[in-house]
Amino acid sequence: MTVFVLDSSAVLSGKPITLSEGNMVTVPSVEKEVAKNEEDYRIFKYLMEKGLQVFIPSKEGVEVVENAAGKSGDMRRLSQVDKELLALAVDLKKKGDVCILTDDYSIQNVADFLGIRYEGVSQNGISKRFVWVYQCTGCKKVFKEYMSSCPVCGSPLKMVVKKRFTLSRKR
Ligand SMILES: [Zn+2]
Repeated sequence: MTVFVLDSSAVLSGKPITLSEGNMVTVPSVEKEVAKNEEDYRIFKYLMEKGLQVFIPSKEGVEVVENAAGKSGDMRRLSQVDKELLALAVDLKKKGDVCILTDDYSIQNVADFLGIRYEGVSQNGISKRFVWVYQCTGCKKVFKEYMSSCPVCGSPLKMVVKKRFTLSRKR
């Protein structure tokens, strides 16, 4: 079982839903980041329903990361959020397999330095595999935009992932 550590772009990609094996985790500062945008925060909460968990990294973990970033020359390029994500990965690696989902090169670089696995988010068109829509819980009509209730029947809407055509690539 792999624990996937998600940065903000990974949270917003919808990719974790395709993972049949593995847990999704992230840090409080990522939640804070996506909470700035209502639409983004809805995706975050949707993933929470699917099992996404938020953990605070340990102080020791942050120290390990700062040490590594100092040595690899990434210190100044790492934001507080980046450090926390890496620190959480350091913490969780003690317990098992960990993979950071991020497109950030500084995070990837420090992860390399620490011997932590990572995977890009936008590679393989992963971020394009899903579209988010809102479906009425009553009449099942699908809407592109969020509304507090269905304009047809008045039932609440819920967020659903709609697959875009097929997963085969277009050339
Ligand atoms: Zn309806």
